[in-house]
Amino acid sequence: MSRAKIVAGNWKMNLDRESSVALARSVQNIDRDQESSEVLIFPATIWLAPVSAAIEGSFVRLGGQNCHSEPKGAFTGEVSAAMLAEICTDAMAGHSERRHVFGESDDLVSAKVRAILDAGMRVVLCVGETLAEREAGDAEAVVERQLRSALTMVPGSEINNVVIAYEPVWAIGTGVAATPADAQTMCQFVRQVLRDQHDEQGEDRPVLYGGSVTPDNARELFNQADIDGGLIGGASLDVQSFRAIVDASDRADKT
Ligand code: PEP
Repeated sequence: MSRAKIVAGNWKMNLDRESSVALARSVQNIDRDQESSEVLIFPATIWLAPVSAAIEGSFVRLGGQNCHSEPKGAFTGEVSAAMLAEICTDAMAGHSERRHVFGESDDLVSAKVRAILDAGMRVVLCVGETLAEREAGDAEAVVERQLRSALTMVPGSEINNVVIAYEPVWAIGTGVAATPADAQTMCQFVRQVLRDQHDEQGEDRPVLYGGSVTPDNARELFNQADIDGGLIGGASLDVQSFRAIVDASDRADKT
């Protein structure tokens, strides 16, 4: 079976309103020979509404970078999954910056995954080990723990609304991507865990690689058997480099 291919741009806390709308318009105007990949952007939460208006009716999907795990209440400054779902198709959970900068635990990530699915969105669940964990030989154990924990409350009937992004923490924003062979090994491992939990439905979920993907390394990464596209940070802020990465995914062929 052929799995969906996805290229997602995580804009993080970058770009003002005008630049966000302009970049979104440029992304929707990317001229594509073959549209075999989904394209998804994650602007800053405050600019989701104007970006949504700018890309309406185009091939570009819109995602929220973060949300609260509770549906509503006295959580000053927070945004619920249901609020995001009014304009977004997708939401992220478990990004390494949420885990390591904001101290989000596996349990909180799991609750956010549940909240995102309950709100009717697809979840892009990020997992990945730190350098110390990799050097200690624990990369697979960490990723398995993160996956199993985050998916504890996701039954087989909902796994088709989950996309996994394997993002080694040491590769995010460092300019040092995993080698295609190492990224493939870990994405294959992610797929095995998904299969173990959810049989073929789990095995068939898209598994993306993220961490210093650029136009120079995207093709080789995306041509790996178990890598179904990428979650792109820095290189998604420039439409020329994002376009080259989308093109690499569109052309990747696993048959
Ligand atoms: C990310 O933010 O998820 C990411 C992969 O960033 P970068 O591409 O800049 O490493």
